[in-house]
Amino acid sequence: MDVEGLNLSTIAKLFSDETAAWQYLEQTRWPNGPICPHCGIVNHAYFLEPESGIRTTRTGDTSYRRLWKCGDCRQKFSVLVGTIFEDSHIPVSKWLLAVHLMCAGKNGVSALELSRQLGIAYRSAWFMAHRIRYAMARPPLVDKLSGTVEADETYIGGKAHGKRGRGAANKTPVVTLVERDGEARSQVVANVTGENIGAILHEQVKPDATLVTDSYPVYTKPGKDFAAHHTVDHGAGNMPARMVKGRRRSGCIATRWKASSPS
Ligand SMILES: [Zn+2]
Repeated sequence: MDVEGLNLSTIAKLFSDETAAWQYLEQTRWPNGPICPHCGIVNHAYFLEPESGIRTTRTGDTSYRRLWKCGDCRQKFSVLVGTIFEDSHIPVSKWLLAVHLMCAGKNGVSALELSRQLGIAYRSAWFMAHRIRYAMARPPLVDKLSGTVEADETYIGGKAHGKRGRGAANKTPVVTLVERDGEARSQVVANVTGENIGAILHEQVKPDATLVTDSYPVYTKPGKDFAAHHTVDHGAGNMPARMVKGRRRSGCIATRWKASSPS
């Protein structure tokens, strides 16, 4: 999350509208569409509208939790999964205000001051301050993949049997990028074309990276925009095992808020 983007006027708006606060977090964390924390696929989930138009908690209070369902692995998730905001009953709007208060000032604020400003119990304020300091102490993670990055497409879903690989009927093409010794990201594409693949590579991979793909022609033109482009032969077992197996690696467009709980 971009702390600079959180100014007082944004905060004022978000603080009075919990739904807007959730949407703000979603847009910040998922600029390219929701990312499933279970399988790492990008922008292939749909929003679950609460059945009665409003979601309630077990105690009958209104819940502002925004749930998504992955179109691939079918699991549900929210934007809080894997963040310091997860597993707390504190509204997202209060978290955002706390982040602003702790990061905007030169010296930050104490838990006591946080509790006064947010109108919450000292205990909750202490918990928030602890988590926010923990996240702040971690180096910001880079947004783009770097080093050696392998790119490949796989095909998911569909009922067609007996036909595999490129052009498989009724299947959804997914482009997967794997940073060697790093994270993996996957994204659904309408068609596997040089243009589509190029757009994803430019968005997700640093220009100084070494790209590794097979010799499929769609990679030829975009490959020229990176420091190096090596092609390997699928059949010879040169692609990393986790790439060949598919996308079962969780990957997130990283932000420093990705830090999970400090405990
Ligand atoms: Zn999933």
